[in-house]
Amino acid sequence: MDGKTMLAYVIDKERSGAVKEVAVPEPGDHDVLIKVMAAGLCGTDAHIYQGEYYSEFPLVPGHEFAGIVAQTGKAVKRFTEGQRVVADPNIFCEKCHFCKQNVQNFCQDFQAVGVTRDGAFAEYVVVPEGCVFEIGAMSFTTGALVEPLSCVVYGQLRARPQLGDNVLIYGAGPIGLLHLQLAKRNGASFAAVVDVKAERLELAQKLGADRVLLSGSGLDDELRQEFPLGFHLVIDTSGVPKVVENAVAHVKNAGSLLIFGVCPPDAKINVSPYEIYKRDLKIIGSFALKKTFQPTINLIENQLIDVAVIVGEQIKLSQLPEQMEKFVAGKTAMKTVVTF
Ligand SMILES: [Zn+2]
Ligand SMILES: [Zn+2]
Repeated sequence: MDGKTMLAYVIDKERSGAVKEVAVPEPGDHDVLIKVMAAGLCGTDAHIYQGEYYSEFPLVPGHEFAGIVAQTGKAVKRFTEGQRVVADPNIFCEKCHFCKQNVQNFCQDFQAVGVTRDGAFAEYVVVPEGCVFEIGAMSFTTGALVEPLSCVVYGQLRARPQLGDNVLIYGAGPIGLLHLQLAKRNGASFAAVVDVKAERLELAQKLGADRVLLSGSGLDDELRQEFPLGFHLVIDTSGVPKVVENAVAHVKNAGSLLIFGVCPPDAKINVSPYEIYKRDLKIIGSFALKKTFQPTINLIENQLIDVAVIVGEQIKLSQLPEQMEKFVAGKTAMKTVVTF
């Protein structure tokens, strides 16, 4: 690919992104060059675009993607041109303190495709061989959703519902709907879902929600009345600090609260430490993912989780600058996928 150019969506400064002609990246000896076929737009991309993340510009974002192997580095043994693949965007050094203790998501030399190095909103992307997974006949659009589901799988490995548990999920957006399906697969006997949008709740019902509640001023009373003992597991996917604060009251004694949605870094909530002590509560975080790509591919390949349902619009790369503006303004429905 020496000297060849490609189209890429480049963010060159805060709130400024455009599709440009740039050089096709060169794979190093241990890298794979992937021809991108589909790439999903994620909340992280919006944070990067708005300069609210640790990314440095210029940057090609895009960390949820699928494509075809276009070229392999000299030392690559497991992949050949033409294979259909996805890639875990998280690159771990496997040498540092945290990697050696199997908490690679806190790698001290952490790199992420589309976050700290150029990503997949481009015709081609380079990733280390160790991050690449075969997807067989899975569609590329579905393949682009392996990453978000992998994060959800990681979250529920950390806060796993036990057989027969009841679960409350805040948010019926793409991530909330994945949590809902996975919680049912994990053995939850009952799942309630809360959202501000009625049409999203309808979708939640189709995907197995046993009870849906429209969020509003009376929500906490409604939950208290209907579920006075609360829920074994409460999952927040809203990232709204007030929602997380109110969620604590609906965790059953000895239950868990999984904080999955991304709250603003400087936000604070009011929680009574006495309540956490007295009621045996667990408050659990979940950052990115760690080695959950393969189980996630297995879940999708065997149709145990419907990921296609979270796709909103499919657009072309040329439409991405405009779509990004719509996305940060909250004017897109469900997940946008760029197809090539
Ligand atoms: Zn993402
Ligand atoms: Zn490391």
